[in-house]
Amino acid sequence: MTKERLEYDIILVGGSPSNLTMAHRLLELAKDKGTKLSIAIVEKSENFGGHIVSGAVVTKSIFDKAYPNHVADNMPVEAVCDRSYLSIMSPTKKWDLPNAITRAAAPDFCKEGYYILTLSLVVQWMAQTLIEKAKTIPNVILDVFPGFPAVEALYNDSGDTVIGVRVARTGDDADDNVYAKLVCFGDKGFVSKDIIKKFKLETNPQLWSVGVKETWKLPENTEHLETLLGVKAVNGKNPLEGKVWHTLGYPTLDGTLGGGFIYGLSHRRVTIGLVISLDSKNPNIHPQKQLQEYKKHPFLQELIKGGELLHYGAAVLPEGGYESLPKAFQVNGAILLGDALGLLDMKSLAGVDKAIESGYIAAGVALDAIATGDTSATKLSKYQSKLLESPFMDKLKANRYFRQAFSENPDLLEKYIPMIVDGIEKAAPTIKQSNAMGSNPQAMLAAGFGAMTIGLSTPIKAIMAALRTNALLNDAKSVNLKVNYKAGYTHIDPDFGLVNANQAATDANYAKPTIYSREDAVFYAQTKYNYHPEHIDEFSANTCLRCIKTYEARGLDVPCVSDCTAEVHRLDISDMGKVHAMSLENCVQCRTCELICPEQNLRVNAAFAGSGPDFRGL
Ligand SMILES: Cc1cc2nc3c(=O)[nH]c(=O)nc-3n(C[C@H](O)[C@H](O)[C@H](O)COP(=O)(O)OP(=O)(O)OC[C@H]3O[C@@H](n4cnc5c(N)ncnc54)[C@H](O)[C@@H]3O)c2cc1C
Ligand code: SF4
Ligand code: SF4
Repeated sequence: MTKERLEYDIILVGGSPSNLTMAHRLLELAKDKGTKLSIAIVEKSENFGGHIVSGAVVTKSIFDKAYPNHVADNMPVEAVCDRSYLSIMSPTKKWDLPNAITRAAAPDFCKEGYYILTLSLVVQWMAQTLIEKAKTIPNVILDVFPGFPAVEALYNDSGDTVIGVRVARTGDDADDNVYAKLVCFGDKGFVSKDIIKKFKLETNPQLWSVGVKETWKLPENTEHLETLLGVKAVNGKNPLEGKVWHTLGYPTLDGTLGGGFIYGLSHRRVTIGLVISLDSKNPNIHPQKQLQEYKKHPFLQELIKGGELLHYGAAVLPEGGYESLPKAFQVNGAILLGDALGLLDMKSLAGVDKAIESGYIAAGVALDAIATGDTSATKLSKYQSKLLESPFMDKLKANRYFRQAFSENPDLLEKYIPMIVDGIEKAAPTIKQSNAMGSNPQAMLAAGFGAMTIGLSTPIKAIMAALRTNALLNDAKSVNLKVNYKAGYTHIDPDFGLVNANQAATDANYAKPTIYSREDAVFYAQTKYNYHPEHIDEFSANTCLRCIKTYEARGLDVPCVSDCTAEVHRLDISDMGKVHAMSLENCVQCRTCELICPEQNLRVNAAFAGSGPDFRGL
């Protein structure tokens, strides 16, 4: 980019699934209609896909809609899920719910037929095919700027219209203002949170969780997996390929909402992750450490035995769902898409389909707005109504009270899940696949539900609580409720009693090297800072001093130090005692520290010059 005034019809902030889909669709529509159009995409990563962390198990139908030629065009698909499990983990045992129970009680976890994707590689493919497509459409100009982060939105003089973004290549005099008739934010909140604040769009505060994950290469000989899973490796497919587990329980047993995932990929790889909600009372969640605890489970140890760690990464997920959607999805001159809008449905762990759908729908509305010279919020409001009518949003609406079920009944996470886990630990015979090994589901169900009724004083109370929870979780239409979320950091309790949940419940027999310290894990995020790494603002050193005293007095880490996913925050000794400091060159730009800082004393900005991790392949 040079210093001249840069002006486009549309700027897309973030090379995200939502924005890249929007660009694809814009190209198709502009080609069909012969509309002249100029589009710019600014992406903070040096390479498209480089800052994308996801699972990802995604419905095929969204690709059939938005990318009908994706098979012929070789979109990278790791596998098609041929068997999915919902499992409860105890420290040394695992119980897979029988398929019939999962189908009846938790159909959102039935992922058979879904694509298993490495989203970073899909995003790379989206960008490459987009650039090729644009070359064939003479009436469209497409300029892509990987390594150019947007740092702030630009407004007109009266401040009621977005007119562009400031793009900071290096964070000094080389900054550029880029102007557009329409700015589309698919940036997971980095800049779009300012739009939500400025235009007072918030209904409920967004609730966030953090996802940490690793991808492993399996050894050539996978006979031990065949025994473990009761599956034969056929046609060179590893026995894990196409298998999906979502797990509850161990290691997140401190009353925090969380769960694990294990997805079997092609080419003898497996991806393992944990998603942990940040509206936790626990000031020291330790996401990366919890992931290591998860991997110490004998089932996971067996899965990765003899394997090799390939990648590590972390990202946050907006999980407030329907109840946290902004009042408006658009303002004068701008729209919000995907996670920036908060379209993820946490109950089914599905955000990619809705992100892509938002881009697909936005393209039609945007082209019409550009063609008529009217990009006002009123003109753009069709985006919101069309998106809300989309069948891809049905789950988001149906699951709108998922988070409320846990906040109304904290015992669910604080007592009952640990009790059920305890029951599994005592009753489950094995870590092997229940279906393959014929475990005793009745005994485990009895242990679990027995535990739940002990927790409630009378059978009537137990039944009422169960009915209410069931309505919130599974029958939103029957509930009439005004939800009031509180921002995640407000839940932190410095006096939260430390539980053993974050310690290894069992340190038994895990094979080395399968467990990594946070310091070592950073190496596998491949962080590289090309320019000065000062991208996190600390607003007040005095606030940090106070915070350090609060947590030190209780023998705890300050939340930013414990919950950073990449060994950035630390305490140094100075004349004033312990002070907050940062090793910014390690940062993977997940924004967890900003969200959990109890004093809201941090802001994580996009780093300069394409710096940060390289998550391609994660
Ligand atoms: C661990 C984990 C597991 C998940 N599993 C699943 C799953 O199994 N299935 C599923 O459907 N969903 C899953 N999700 C959710 C899913 O990944 C997201 O909902 C989806 O990626 C959102 O897409 P998006 O279009 O909003 O863009 P994002 O994926 O949020 O991408 C944002 C892009 O914008 C760029 N960007 C950000 N700020 C700036 C800036 N200021 N300037 C320039 N560029 C910027 C980023 O670098 C990035 O490339 C998971 C998420 C996580 C973290
Ligand atoms: S950044 Fe926040 S969490 Fe960290 S020491 Fe300062 S106030 Fe505490
Ligand atoms: S410093 Fe903050 S944004 Fe960077 S890796 Fe740590 S928690 Fe994530």
